[in-house]
Amino acid sequence: MAEPIVVTEGLTKDYHLGPHTVHALRGVSVTIERGEFVAVMGPSGSGKSTFMNLLGCLDTSSAGRYVLDGQDVAGLSADDLARIRNAKIGFVFQQFNLLPRTTALENVELPLLYGTLPARERRTRAQQRLASVGLADRAGHHPSQLSGGQQQRVAIARALVNDPAMILADEPTGNLDTRTSVEVLALLQGLNRAGLTIVLVTHEPDIATYASRHLTFRDGRLRADERVEAPVDAAVALTSLPREDEDAA
Ligand code: ADP
Ligand code: MG
Repeated sequence: MAEPIVVTEGLTKDYHLGPHTVHALRGVSVTIERGEFVAVMGPSGSGKSTFMNLLGCLDTSSAGRYVLDGQDVAGLSADDLARIRNAKIGFVFQQFNLLPRTTALENVELPLLYGTLPARERRTRAQQRLASVGLADRAGHHPSQLSGGQQQRVAIARALVNDPAMILADEPTGNLDTRTSVEVLALLQGLNRAGLTIVLVTHEPDIATYASRHLTFRDGRLRADERVEAPVDAAVALTSLPREDEDAA
């Protein structure tokens, strides 16, 4: 069997604020196999974002082990972490995090600028990814000229541009209306069916119904790990959701 994409053992994160210590993660052990669609759930402050930042090599743990795609990341230098992050992980955030005075196409191309692809191939690859999220005709638009749903699709195209092994999405639908949220979930489910591992952080139970596994955090601990027999199919759900005004964000 293929190696799991994620293995954590006793993953721990303390934040030191002057004399105080915040125990954000208190020893989380979990394995995520390739091709899973995992929802990370739990109330505000339960450690979801801390967990995701560690999985994404955006931060380092205080204790415990993390093996990403077969590689133990503990003890790696900041440069090595950045390299692994760029090669293996695509990030999607609630606030989209697009550069404002930059076109959709340039935003998608951005992660490739750290690599070795020639300019022409970078451009072609970015155009393909933008087309794959249905935005080929918006390549020259700036983020302010796009709806919220379109901006999030640009962010997803950007997350895909390096052919990552895993997508980490932290509350990706938090700023979107219901129908647009389900459209984004349909896109993520499509990518997942094509084999991509997805870890989606959400505090909304409705959003988690589209995932095939629920990890529930509370007070920095993993409280529940449940398989979902039949996740909701977002494409089907869309057929019974009214279409929102195209201009709405
Ligand atoms: P969630 O994403 O589930 O809302 P977080 O992982 O953001 O939770 O936070 C978990 C705990 O760690 C909270 O108590 C939060 O206040 C604390 N925390 C998160 N980030 C920091 C930080 N950079 N410095 C200090 N404390 C933090
Ligand atoms: Mg959070």
